[in-house]
Amino acid sequence: MENNLSDGNYTLLGEMPIINDFILPRTYHGKISLDPISLYNYIVFPIFTKFLIEKPKVIKKKCIRCGVCVRSCPEKAIMVDKVSAIIDYSKCIKCYCCHEQCPEGAIDLKRINL
Ligand code: SF4
Ligand code: SF4
Repeated sequence: MENNLSDGNYTLLGEMPIINDFILPRTYHGKISLDPISLYNYIVFPIFTKFLIEKPKVIKKKCIRCGVCVRSCPEKAIMVDKVSAIIDYSKCIKCYCCHEQCPEGAIDLKRINL
Protein backbone atom coordinates (compact mmCIF):
# COMPACT_ATOMS: atom_id res chain seq x y z
CA MET A 1 0.00 0.00 0.00
CA GLU A 2 1.27 3.46 -0.85
CA ASN A 3 -0.01 6.62 0.69
CA ASN A 4 0.39 10.29 0.16
CA LEU A 5 0.16 11.84 3.60
CA SER A 6 -0.28 15.32 2.19
CA ASP A 7 -3.73 14.69 0.75
CA GLY A 8 -4.87 11.53 2.53
CA ASN A 9 -5.24 9.52 -0.70
CA TYR A 10 -4.30 5.84 -0.61
CA THR A 11 -3.52 3.51 -3.45
CA LEU A 12 -3.74 -0.23 -2.89
CA LEU A 13 -1.14 -2.23 -4.79
CA GLY A 14 -1.57 -5.96 -5.35
CA GLU A 15 -4.38 -8.01 -3.89
CA MET A 16 -6.18 -7.25 -0.66
CA PRO A 17 -5.72 -10.03 1.89
CA ILE A 18 -8.97 -11.58 3.10
CA ILE A 19 -9.23 -11.72 6.88
CA ASN A 20 -12.09 -14.04 7.75
CA ASP A 21 -11.99 -13.74 11.54
CA PHE A 22 -11.78 -9.96 11.75
CA ILE A 23 -14.08 -8.54 14.43
CA LEU A 24 -14.92 -4.84 14.61
CA PRO A 25 -13.97 -3.19 17.91
CA ARG A 26 -16.87 -2.56 20.29
CA THR A 27 -16.36 1.19 19.98
CA TYR A 28 -16.83 1.15 16.20
CA HIS A 29 -19.52 3.57 15.00
CA GLY A 30 -19.96 5.09 18.41
CA LYS A 31 -21.05 1.91 20.20
CA ILE A 32 -19.70 2.84 23.59
CA SER A 33 -19.23 0.16 26.18
CA LEU A 34 -18.31 0.57 29.83
CA ASP A 35 -14.90 -1.02 29.66
CA PRO A 36 -11.99 1.09 30.99
CA ILE A 37 -10.63 1.92 27.54
CA SER A 38 -13.97 3.24 26.27
CA LEU A 39 -14.54 5.24 29.44
CA TYR A 40 -11.11 6.78 29.04
CA ASN A 41 -11.55 7.50 25.31
CA TYR A 42 -15.05 8.96 25.49
CA ILE A 43 -15.22 10.56 28.93
CA VAL A 44 -11.90 11.09 30.69
CA PHE A 45 -9.76 12.12 27.73
CA PRO A 46 -12.28 14.61 26.22
CA ILE A 47 -12.73 16.29 29.60
CA PHE A 48 -8.98 16.36 30.08
CA THR A 49 -8.35 17.92 26.67
CA LYS A 50 -11.19 20.43 27.03
CA PHE A 51 -10.17 21.86 30.37
CA LEU A 52 -6.54 21.02 31.04
CA ILE A 53 -4.65 21.03 27.76
CA GLU A 54 -3.65 24.48 26.60
CA LYS A 55 -5.24 25.91 23.48
CA PRO A 56 -3.67 28.39 21.06
CA LYS A 57 -5.16 31.86 21.27
CA VAL A 58 -4.46 34.75 18.91
CA ILE A 59 -3.39 38.02 20.52
CA LYS A 60 -5.09 40.33 18.03
CA LYS A 61 -3.05 43.43 18.78
CA LYS A 62 0.20 41.57 18.01
CA CYS A 63 -0.99 39.88 14.82
CA ILE A 64 0.32 41.39 11.57
CA ARG A 65 -1.80 39.02 9.41
CA CYS A 66 1.27 37.51 7.74
CA GLY A 67 -0.35 34.09 7.24
CA VAL A 68 2.55 32.03 8.59
CA CYS A 69 0.24 30.32 11.07
CA VAL A 70 -2.25 29.50 8.31
CA ARG A 71 0.45 27.75 6.32
CA SER A 72 1.87 25.95 9.36
CA CYS A 73 -1.44 24.50 10.55
CA PRO A 74 -1.75 20.82 9.54
CA GLU A 75 -5.53 20.86 10.13
CA LYS A 76 -6.30 24.03 8.17
CA ALA A 77 -7.83 25.39 11.36
CA ILE A 78 -6.64 28.97 10.95
CA MET A 79 -7.72 31.74 8.62
CA VAL A 80 -6.83 35.43 8.52
CA ASP A 81 -9.58 38.01 8.36
CA LYS A 82 -9.34 41.81 8.13
CA VAL A 83 -8.21 42.09 11.75
CA SER A 84 -6.14 39.04 12.69
CA ALA A 85 -5.75 35.30 12.48
CA ILE A 86 -8.75 33.29 13.67
CA ILE A 87 -8.62 29.73 14.97
CA ASP A 88 -11.41 27.23 14.37
CA TYR A 89 -11.27 25.20 17.58
CA SER A 90 -13.50 22.49 16.14
CA LYS A 91 -10.59 21.57 13.84
CA CYS A 92 -7.63 22.35 16.12
CA ILE A 93 -5.66 19.33 17.35
CA LYS A 94 -3.45 21.41 19.69
CA CYS A 95 -0.20 20.64 17.94
CA TYR A 96 1.03 24.20 18.63
CA CYS A 97 2.73 24.59 15.24
CA CYS A 98 1.07 27.99 14.90
CA HIS A 99 2.37 29.07 18.30
CA GLU A 100 5.89 28.00 17.43
CA GLN A 101 5.92 29.48 13.92
CA CYS A 102 4.33 32.88 14.52
CA PRO A 103 7.08 35.47 13.96
CA GLU A 104 5.33 38.01 16.17
CA GLY A 105 4.62 35.86 19.20
CA ALA A 106 0.95 36.58 18.55
CA ILE A 107 -0.33 33.11 19.38
CA ASP A 108 -0.39 32.42 23.07
CA LEU A 109 -1.32 29.19 24.84
CA LYS A 110 -4.22 29.34 27.28
CA ARG A 111 -5.62 26.67 29.53
CA ILE A 112 -9.02 28.33 29.98
CA ASN A 113 -12.03 27.34 27.88
CA LEU A 114 -11.80 29.76 24.96
S1 SF4 B 1 1.66 33.95 12.16
FE1 SF4 B 1 1.21 35.30 13.90
S2 SF4 B 1 1.33 37.36 13.05
FE2 SF4 B 1 1.17 35.96 11.31
S3 SF4 B 1 -1.05 35.84 10.89
FE3 SF4 B 1 -0.58 34.17 12.30
S4 SF4 B 1 -0.98 35.01 14.35
FE4 SF4 B 1 -0.83 36.73 12.95
S1 SF4 C 1 -2.47 24.22 17.43
FE1 SF4 C 1 -2.03 23.10 15.53
S2 SF4 C 1 -4.04 22.47 14.77
FE2 SF4 C 1 -4.41 24.04 16.31
S3 SF4 C 1 -4.58 25.94 15.15
FE3 SF4 C 1 -2.42 25.75 15.81
S4 SF4 C 1 -1.36 24.73 14.12
FE4 SF4 C 1 -3.58 24.42 13.83
